[in-house]
Amino acid sequence: MEKVKVGIIICDRYANCAGGKCFRSLANREGAFARYKNMEVEVAGYTTCGGCPGGNIEYAIIEMKKNGITHVHFATGFLVGYPPCPYMEYFEKFIKNKFGVEVVFGTHPIPEKYFITHQALDTWNTPFLKRAISETLNDQQTRLNYD
Ligand code: SF4
Repeated sequence: MEKVKVGIIICDRYANCAGGKCFRSLANREGAFARYKNMEVEVAGYTTCGGCPGGNIEYAIIEMKKNGITHVHFATGFLVGYPPCPYMEYFEKFIKNKFGVEVVFGTHPIPEKYFITHQALDTWNTPFLKRAISETLNDQQTRLNYD
């Protein structure tokens, strides 16, 4: 079976998060982890961005790369926070260019309560954010399962 090593970086606003939804969705191959269906996945690093403007991202990727990651996931909190992380597009360019690591936006499905609020605010109505949420939007029942 093909194997992939990934890292997960969470938004520092949720620094105390134990990763419950991320690890559940990984086990179920839901949200952005659906891309690894029928693959073995090893999480080779898990940390926070270090707080705005994400000073730990540079160092975290160096550490994770030593452990062999090819993909780094920005946890769904990057997308659903109020506001979503404003630096994601830059981080993606930086990480791809400097480290050759693929950035995946999101981990677990977007919880329904965040979906409702961001729809009302029209938050994700940009080409970049539409792309960024595409793997974690999922159907309503799945979003409710992650509320
Ligand atoms: S908004 Fe972005 S830079 Fe700020 S703490 Fe969250 S992930 Fe880090």
